[in-house]
Amino acid sequence: MPRDLLLTDYVDAEGQRIVDSLFEWLRIPSISADPDHSASVRHSAEFAADLLRDAGMEHAQVVETGGAPAVYADWLHAGPSAPTALVYGHHDVQPVDPLDEWALPPFEPALVDGECRARGAVDDKGQLLFQIEAARGLLQRHGRLPVNLKFLIEGEEEVGSPHFEDLLHEQLERLSCDVVVVSDTTMWGPQVPSTCVGLRGLVAFDLTIRTAAGDLHSGSFGGSLPNSAHVAADLVSSLHDGDGRVALPGFYDDVRPLTEAEQRSLRLLPFDEDEWKRKAGVARLEGEAGRTTLERVWTRPTCEVVGITAGYGGEGMKTVVPGRANVKVTFRLVPDQDPERVAEVFGAWLAARVPEGVSLEAEQVGSVGPALTDPDHPSVGALCRAIERVWGRAPLLTREGGSGPEEALGRVLEAPVLYLGVGLPDDRYHAPDERMVMDQFWKGLIAAGELWGEVARAHG
Ligand SMILES: [Zn+2]
Repeated sequence: MPRDLLLTDYVDAEGQRIVDSLFEWLRIPSISADPDHSASVRHSAEFAADLLRDAGMEHAQVVETGGAPAVYADWLHAGPSAPTALVYGHHDVQPVDPLDEWALPPFEPALVDGECRARGAVDDKGQLLFQIEAARGLLQRHGRLPVNLKFLIEGEEEVGSPHFEDLLHEQLERLSCDVVVVSDTTMWGPQVPSTCVGLRGLVAFDLTIRTAAGDLHSGSFGGSLPNSAHVAADLVSSLHDGDGRVALPGFYDDVRPLTEAEQRSLRLLPFDEDEWKRKAGVARLEGEAGRTTLERVWTRPTCEVVGITAGYGGEGMKTVVPGRANVKVTFRLVPDQDPERVAEVFGAWLAARVPEGVSLEAEQVGSVGPALTDPDHPSVGALCRAIERVWGRAPLLTREGGSGPEEALGRVLEAPVLYLGVGLPDDRYHAPDERMVMDQFWKGLIAAGELWGEVARAHG
């Protein structure tokens, strides 16, 4: 751990109190998916507001939403020419089942081999606490922060942030900022620091194909009329071409090429294909021709059939021509694809393929835009310098294949989103024995302390 950074002494002096505080927060079972835990989610929000108040942040309060409560606090005394940063994280956690696969009870945090074990340790209370403690340390040691700082802590991230965008719009003025910092992501490895610059978006469809009013006897009718399962299979098989590319016309037109810095990072990341296969439990990899696995999951759009239902799937055999089939399809999107435009193109593509006399209904059931932070933005440079100072190596640029509330943050607040995440790929997110490697936690705290000065300098 580097010795000469702003918060090194603070960590030495306050380490035990910080761990106690982390444990206390982790003991609150704030599972947002379970209505029986709503009192705990509220308790967790109140606890976070207290942490922020104790840290010296002002206006710390629980903020009501249409669902579980969020938390807000700010410190706005850096002066009018200083930039304003907003830290985002979430205080709710995933459910804990299967409970019998936990080595230790999920809400009784413990330190084991330098790891904090508990539900929420890395996702996301631990990653938020290092941000809160960095602000506390700077205020305690220096009496001020180099930036105007705001915190927004959500209580529904683990259930898909259903009220988050409304909250952003309702509180737009109070949340306005020059840069958003998210601490809810991972690094490539403890020796390979990295920062995320983009997330894929998503648009999903539920397709219902009807060839008849109901299932028909395959002896009496089979061979004389359309079969809904065959129609579904035809549609599914024509979604991709022979090169594994999505066959919708113009599907790739809006895909933004990677910057030089991103291409370089993709080349430098130590990626083990066999390990990837082992983790996935598969014997072979496939996808868009001419692309590496990381390119495919981070930087390229996809179409996946997530479910097909038709006809009889029970014991033995049933002699029917199925009259109805259901296909669920998701598209993962990358910058600058627009979910609504993809929806239009997909609708037209389907309409052109359905045989006459067959009915097809396509219902759109979800849509999130892709998110991208320009890797050449000066605040990304500021973040990279802060990380390099602590980890001793400049971070590589990564992306995430999934989607999250970060897209709404960047779009609604019109600010670049930076990712100071210290989670590791083996931290067992959403799984039994979730952990936070404490060395990463302390480094995150010290990096957060370095970050604000860098952001202020990059802004000026
Ligand atoms: Zn999270």
